[in-house]
Amino acid sequence: MTGERLGAVQAALRERGIDALLVSVGSDLPYLTGYRAMPLERITALVVPAAGDSALFVPELEAPRVDTFVDVRPWGETDDPFDRIAAALPDRGTIAVGDQMWAAFLIAFQDRLPGVRFVDAEPLMAPLRMIKDIGEIAALRDAAHAVDGVADHLSTVRFTGRTERDMSRIVSDLVLASGHESVSFAIVAAGRNGASPHHEASDRLIRSGDAVVVDFGGRMRGYGSDTTRMYCVGEPPGGFEEAYAVLGRAQRAAVESVRPGTTAEEIDAAARSVISDAGYGEFFIHRTGHGIGLDAHEQPYIVQGNLEPIRAGMAFSIEPGIYVPDHWGMRIEDIVVVVDGGVERLNRSSRKLRFVE
Ligand code: ZN
Ligand code: ZN
Ligand code: ZN
Repeated sequence: MTGERLGAVQAALRERGIDALLVSVGSDLPYLTGYRAMPLERITALVVPAAGDSALFVPELEAPRVDTFVDVRPWGETDDPFDRIAAALPDRGTIAVGDQMWAAFLIAFQDRLPGVRFVDAEPLMAPLRMIKDIGEIAALRDAAHAVDGVADHLSTVRFTGRTERDMSRIVSDLVLASGHESVSFAIVAAGRNGASPHHEASDRLIRSGDAVVVDFGGRMRGYGSDTTRMYCVGEPPGGFEEAYAVLGRAQRAAVESVRPGTTAEEIDAAARSVISDAGYGEFFIHRTGHGIGLDAHEQPYIVQGNLEPIRAGMAFSIEPGIYVPDHWGMRIEDIVVVVDGGVERLNRSSRKLRFVE
């Protein structure tokens, strides 16, 4: 990684009349420097002035892990890091702060720089991070293919007699074995638990007649994966297959609506109208998707009211669902990337209902 992204962010700072950018933990840091900091109470902070050289302040003990082209300034265990970092910042004007900086850090800077107005850096960073370059898209594609292999492998695993928690552990192990460096989540929601979209795997035993939502992802070469497939043990519950056919059409309609120039809310509407027209509208209780990259959830959000124009290089999930309380839930999720003139689906494993033992 070179300083190209830092150059782009400095241009954006000048354009907006902001004097410096200050980021700590969170994904803006690896985006700009190639280094992902551990979320510690010992502050790591990147200072990017509107013009001139940037500096990365790190706790001395972390310095051996840091591999970046940016000037690294370790601070010692008995130093006051906030004094040192504040000295590298302007003492008046406006400083944009990374949206995942801890409140305690920001308060320490506010104390030391009373003449500065601090603003949220997200409006500055999101337009840059939303448009993925070729290397980022390749990383997302590899991560997607890896979890597709996990989804297929799961079709050969016996679900019956295992708890949701057992299955969640199996999914996590498979994600790591697929080449991911970490697992972000492994939702396994059987039967009526499927009606809660972010259900936490429990001790409930999986049994015949259960439809099981399996939604999982992690991080590979720094980039996120996220896919949902549906598994069914024995006969599906009443009404399930009819609804699943509707969901499949809704997901396809949304994917097919993706192209440069459309808006995020139009993609949401493409899925939602199919589900509503079939009479399940009240059971589709979340947005259609979220951006993905260095963060598992980032802009653009595919939701009604988001007029963000879709552009080539954006990557996001298309994951409509139908959730009938006390009965069952279902979701189909793929990551897509916007390309000139259309869309590329990164997840390509079968979206058919998967019958398992
Ligand atoms: Zn979710
Ligand atoms: Zn998901
Ligand atoms: Zn998702």
